Amino acid sequence: MESDLEVLNKLVSFKSELNVLHGHIQQPLNTAVAGAYVCELCGKCFKHRNSRYNHMAKHEGTTRCHICHQVLGQKSNMKRHLRHIHGVMGV
Ligand SMILES: [Zn+2]
Ligand SMILES: [Zn+2]
Repeated sequence: MESDLEVLNKLVSFKSELNVLHGHIQQPLNTAVAGAYVCELCGKCFKHRNSRYNHMAKHEGTTRCHICHQVLGQKSNMKRHLRHIHGVMGV
C-alpha cells in the first residue's frame, strides 16, 4: 500500500521526465539540410563544419589580399597567394 506522499513523488518524477522529453522535441533544427552546415549569410552548404568556418573568413573580409584586393576562398589560400603571387614571406 503506497502512501499519498509516495504517489505524489512518483507523479513529480514522471512529470519531470516528461519535461525532459518535451525539451528534446522542442529543440530547433539548426540546419535545413540534414548533416550539412549552412552559411547563414549566403546559404551555401558545407559537409564539414571546418569548411564553413573557412568560408566564413571570406565574409569577414579576412581572405582579401591587401595588395591586389583579390578575394581568396580561404585564409590558407591567401597565404599561398601572398607567397606565390607577391613573393611575401613569413605569412
Ligand atoms: Zn557564405
Ligand atoms: Zn594579391
